[in-house]
Amino acid sequence: MAAARILVIEDDEDVARLERVVLERAGYDVRHAGTGAEGLDLAESFRPDVVILDVGLPDISGLDVCTSLSNSNNAFVLMVSGHSREQDVLLGLGLGADDYITKPFSGNELVARVASFLRRRERLLNKPEGESSLEFGEAHLDRNFHTLVRDGKSVALTALEFRLLWFLAEAEGRLLTRAQILEQVWNDTSGVPTRVVDVHVAALRKKIAEVDAPVELSSVRGIGYRLDKR
Ligand code: CA
Repeated sequence: MAAARILVIEDDEDVARLERVVLERAGYDVRHAGTGAEGLDLAESFRPDVVILDVGLPDISGLDVCTSLSNSNNAFVLMVSGHSREQDVLLGLGLGADDYITKPFSGNELVARVASFLRRRERLLNKPEGESSLEFGEAHLDRNFHTLVRDGKSVALTALEFRLLWFLAEAEGRLLTRAQILEQVWNDTSGVPTRVVDVHVAALRKKIAEVDAPVELSSVRGIGYRLDKR
């Protein structure tokens, strides 16, 4: 099997070198871009499985790069923030990044996050045939395109949003706790704060509204979420 492709978008040469070295040592095919524009260009031709994206880039903000990436690419996006306060801000924005890591981090930590993404991706792609689409409440989820479709209208979901909505839709009408959701959707729950679930549910609600899918994600305060037909 071909090595997974990792795109590092990072303007700090030292950080970029560290990331590149540890990821290549772990067996991945790594490319590096020093600016947001270069990163977006490279993402189109290289088609990465995972993007490691610095928030503070010299040209385009990492936040805008993240938005463009999630609209055009099925890659998992790991955002790298300068400090934990910045991470809180990022979570609040709900940009569709799949995970966050704060500098400084160890090479092992980075490789572990990437490996966890790739395991999730594998599970996502290797579902048996016949499960390429999931119908719920006059809408359906299309696994091949990672889209939510209703009446010919469709909206693109990030890999993580797709997985989350699929999990909730499969359990239609049943309350799922944040812990269950984290375990199933995030796979590796170590260090993932539970509010990450809230951020992604908020993003999903917007997309559900965009195609006017007749479903509702209800939150049960302090416990979790449930998908209901409207
Ligand atoms: Ca930077």
